[in-house]
Amino acid sequence: MNYEPVIGLEVHAELATQSKMFCACAVVDNTVAAPNSAVCPVCAGMPGTLPVVNQMAVEMGIRVALALGCTVNPVSVFARKNYFYPDLPKGYQISQYEQPLAEHGQLVIQTSQGELTIRIRRVHLEEDTGKLTHVEGGSLLDLNRAGVPLLEIVSEPDIRSAEEAVAYGEALRHILRYLEVNSGDMEKGVIRFEANVSVRLVPSRDGEPVPYGTRTEVKNLNSFRALERAIVFEIERQSKVLDSGETVEQETLGWNEASERTYSQRSKEDAHDYRYFPEPDLPPLKMDESWLERVRAELPELPRAKMQRFVTSYQLSEKDAARLVEEKSTADYFEAAVKRKAKNVNAKTIANWILGELFGLMKTRGETADRLKVKPEALAELVDLVAGGEINQTTGREVLAEMSESGKSAGEIVTAKGLKQVSDAGFIAKIVSQTLDESPGEVTSFRSGKETVLNFLFGQVMKKAAGKANPQVVREELEKQLKGS
Ligand code: ADP
Ligand code: ZN
Ligand code: MG
Repeated sequence: MNYEPVIGLEVHAELATQSKMFCACAVVDNTVAAPNSAVCPVCAGMPGTLPVVNQMAVEMGIRVALALGCTVNPVSVFARKNYFYPDLPKGYQISQYEQPLAEHGQLVIQTSQGELTIRIRRVHLEEDTGKLTHVEGGSLLDLNRAGVPLLEIVSEPDIRSAEEAVAYGEALRHILRYLEVNSGDMEKGVIRFEANVSVRLVPSRDGEPVPYGTRTEVKNLNSFRALERAIVFEIERQSKVLDSGETVEQETLGWNEASERTYSQRSKEDAHDYRYFPEPDLPPLKMDESWLERVRAELPELPRAKMQRFVTSYQLSEKDAARLVEEKSTADYFEAAVKRKAKNVNAKTIANWILGELFGLMKTRGETADRLKVKPEALAELVDLVAGGEINQTTGREVLAEMSESGKSAGEIVTAKGLKQVSDAGFIAKIVSQTLDESPGEVTSFRSGKETVLNFLFGQVMKKAAGKANPQVVREELEKQLKGS
C-alpha cells in the first residue's frame, strides 16, 4: 500500500541567557563546569523557595515568536507539569500550557522540491531538567542544567518526509542563531527534537480528505541525523504494521542510537497524567505593547530575507547567496567588502573570492570571517588589484595567503615583493619568442595540429616571467607568434 507520512515536530531550544529561568544561578557550559557548581535552593527545588521570571528569557522567547510570525499572547500563564523523576527535584516542571507565550506562526523551509511553509502551532517557555549519569552501583545527579530556560516550538503536522523535517530543524536552528538566542551547538545538546510521526493512505483522487493516522512520538533526538533516521524508521515500521492488517499504537518511543531503532517507552494506557494547573507562585505574564514593539524593531534581518536580498541586490545565484548567509559573520563580511570595492568590480567577484579562497583560508585556520586577519576592506583592495590587472589571479591567491598570516595589505605585499603584473607588450613578445626558440619540438607539434601543447608553452613563458606576466597578453602573443611566421 502507498502511505503518506504526517509529521509534527516539537523543538526544545535552550535560551542563551546569563542566568536561569527562575533564579539567579548562572547558565554554565556543562562540558567544562564542575557538576552542581551552579545550583541554588530555587533550582534545587527546596520547599519554600519562590521562582522569579527571567526577563531576558521572555524577551528572547518574544524574539523567536515574532521572527516566526506568531501572535504573542497579551497574557500568558505559567503552569505546573507534575511528574516524578530524579532529575526533577521539585516534582514538577514549570511550563506553559493553556495560555502559551505565542501561537499561530509559520516557517518557510527550503526542500529539493522548492519552498514550503510549515505552520507553527505554539511557542512556549519552560525550564530544563537536571541530568542523570548512570554509573556502576547508582546514578549521579547534576543540577547545573535544572532551571535553564527552554523555548519549546511546536509545529502543526504539516511535514511530509524526513527530508522536510531536517530542513525544518535546520531553518529553525539558523533563525535561532541569527537571533542570538541559541548557539546552535548540537553537540552540547542546546537543541533537541521530538518527532510525532503517523502515516495514512495517500489521499484519494475524489478529494475525500483522509484523516490522520495514529501517531507515535519519538523523544530525545539530539542530532539531525537521529531526527532523520528515527523518522525514516518509524514511517517504515508503521507502514509494515498497517500492511499486515494491524493498527499502529499510540505510544511514546525512545531512539536507540546504536541500533538505529525506536523502542517503546510507554503506551497510551500508561501515558502520564501531568495534572497541569496554573503555577500559584508566578503571576500571569502580561505583555507590554511597547516592549513587543521594541523587540520587533530590533529584530535582525533573518537568513531567508538576507539570502533573497543578496540575490536581487547583488545578482548572486541562490546557491551562492545561501552559502554566504549561512553564517551571519560571513554575510556581514561580504557586504562590508562590497561597500569598499572599486566601482568597476562587481559584487559577484567579491562573492567568488569569499566562497573560494576565503572559505579555504577559514577552514584551514579554523576561523570565522570576523576573526580573520584579512579585514573586508583589505580583501576588497586585493580584488581591485586583480580586477584592475595590477596582479594576476594566481599572484592574488598567494598575496591573500600572506595577508592572512601577516595582516599586511595587498598593496604593501605587492610592492615589497615586486609582484606587480607585467603587461608590457614588448617585454612579453621577447620572452615568448625566447621560449619558442628553446622548444622547437613543441612548436612543430603545434603547427602539425597538436594544439594542446599551447598550454605547455604558456606555462614555460609564465615560468620565465616569474609568474608575473599578464596571462591574457601572454596567450594572445603566443598564438600570434605560433600561427604567424
Ligand atoms: P502533545 O504531544 O503534548 O500531546 P499535541 O497533541 O498538541 O501535543 O501534538 C504534538 C505534536 O504532534 C505537534 O507537533 C503536532 O503537529 C503533532 N501531531 C498531532 N497529530 C499528529 C498526527 N496524527 N501525526 C503526526 N503528528 C501529529
Ligand atoms: Zn538556581
Ligand atoms: Mg508531545
